[in-house]
Amino acid sequence: MKRQSLAAVFRGNAGKIELQKIPTPSPRGAEILVRVESCTLCGNDLQSFNDSRKIVEPTIPGHEIVGRIEAFGPDAPRADASGLPLAIGMRIVWGIVAACGECFCCQRGLTQKCLRSFKYGHQGFVEGYELVGGLAEHCLLMPGTTIVCVPDSLSLDTVTPCSCVTATIAAALKSVDTLEGRFVLITGAGLFGLTAAAMAHSRGAAEVIMSDINPTRLYRSVRSGATRCVLPDDLAIAVSDATRGYGVDLALEVSGASSAFESLWPQVRIGGTIALVGAVFTADAVSLSMEHIVRRNLTIRGIHNYGPDDLVQAIRFLVNYGQTYQLDTVVTKWFSLSDVQEALTAAMDPRHLRIGIRP
Ligand SMILES: [Zn+2]
Ligand SMILES: [Zn+2]
Repeated sequence: MKRQSLAAVFRGNAGKIELQKIPTPSPRGAEILVRVESCTLCGNDLQSFNDSRKIVEPTIPGHEIVGRIEAFGPDAPRADASGLPLAIGMRIVWGIVAACGECFCCQRGLTQKCLRSFKYGHQGFVEGYELVGGLAEHCLLMPGTTIVCVPDSLSLDTVTPCSCVTATIAAALKSVDTLEGRFVLITGAGLFGLTAAAMAHSRGAAEVIMSDINPTRLYRSVRSGATRCVLPDDLAIAVSDATRGYGVDLALEVSGASSAFESLWPQVRIGGTIALVGAVFTADAVSLSMEHIVRRNLTIRGIHNYGPDDLVQAIRFLVNYGQTYQLDTVVTKWFSLSDVQEALTAAMDPRHLRIGIRP
């Protein structure tokens, strides 16, 4: 009998996920079959699961994944994105988006926006290619996937959210030339915000000011590199105090809330940069004065996903600083795949930074 993999399948029924056995594919061409070790649930998964985002279904959700290589297709890559050799049994992470390398966006270096992209945890079922999400025992990696080796010393608690959170933050922080001695403001103290605080602090930021409406999340960020934590009402005073009235060099919006953006952008210094990461769902339009952008020489950047090098940098950062900034404590509870429904319910509680599944 053909081998089967247990998988959690979302069929468009809000709040419901079904366990199902799916034939385990043998990798063809440049594909690689991975045995999933862990998958963490992210806000995007939860929005899809609650049906507040339009997604294709049936689908196997989960895009924050770590796995071990189980089989190579005959033409599969034998080295990771930094040139390290790949072998069966190695622990790896991979980019959310597999890119064609040839389309309009790929030719312009934006492989994360590939027009023929394949996105793990977001694909509808195609026969033989169902196992392409994290909530399953196996995941099939497609040609054009960025793969990065993970040292066994890095805990699954630290590394599992990496292919979504850490790599995206690495991409966002490239919005400025340097963080050494710079002032950084972050709105949103979820895992993206904590990771941004940690990475900015590790690169020598003079101050990392964190703002959030949730005091519990806010004060947790001190352990991850935030030097000041403020509720939105106190933000202007805190920034003025920290920067002697000049404003921050980089403001990073990771919450996706329109109100957060409106409190954030006036806090940026002349010539400063605003990087937007959080708004990956429909939010209210924001008001922003064109004159301010011009007269204050502001730069505004949107960052969605990331390029291959960002994933390499993300792993490097977690190896060097994951423990220092207590990013090894962000998964507050692990569940087995058979308890996935319970895990999704638990993940709705905002006190959990991440809930994890170990198939
Ligand atoms: Zn995610
Ligand atoms: Zn492309």
